[in-house]
Amino acid sequence: MKLIFATNNQNKVKEFRSLLGDQFEIITLLEAGIDIDIPEPHDTLEANATEKSATIHRMTGENCFAEDTGLEINALDGAPGVLSARYAGEQKEAADNIVRVLKEMEGKTDRSAQFRTVISLILDGKEYQFEGVSKGHITNASQGGEGFGYDPIFVPEGETRAFAEMELGEKNQYSHRARAFQKFVAFLKQTANV
Ligand code: IMP
Repeated sequence: MKLIFATNNQNKVKEFRSLLGDQFEIITLLEAGIDIDIPEPHDTLEANATEKSATIHRMTGENCFAEDTGLEINALDGAPGVLSARYAGEQKEAADNIVRVLKEMEGKTDRSAQFRTVISLILDGKEYQFEGVSKGHITNASQGGEGFGYDPIFVPEGETRAFAEMELGEKNQYSHRARAFQKFVAFLKQTANV
């Protein structure tokens, strides 16, 4: 089965492909010849995920999916949340975002946080959503050089290492994206007989 993945983020493509069996073929926007930066104008991950999948479905008419992820920090009332990508500005620089989060977390004793991923799938014109959550805490400083985004400052529950200190296979055991993806694959296997 072929699905267009409505993202320009090659790290996300890499993570999804690492989780896939060969029943699925993921086509990136680049491979589909689509060159757009899909806006994320809404105030929930759910609505932004839908915006992205619906935009690509309108353009191609093909089965497709998108995902939106946010880091939700309890001591910051759920921020950066839906603003995770541009928390330190429209340049969407991970290093700048991390600096802002660590600054706002200075002196906070409650460092609990979660990553949350919402996948929006459009299959035969109908939308389905799948959620994955990874609970953990925010470190005091960046740790490790793997991964992307906020990986250097997030330690999942049951671990002492940040995501950025793990191989991709290890991150997948805990990750929000892997958990949402497992639900998504189970649904596709059941519904589309893949
Ligand atoms: P978006 O889903 O592309 O809007 O990403 C939101 C923000 O969260 C971006 O700054 C990403 O770099 C970051 N992000 C998304 N997924 C992960 C992850 O698995 N680890 C660390 N940061 C992530």
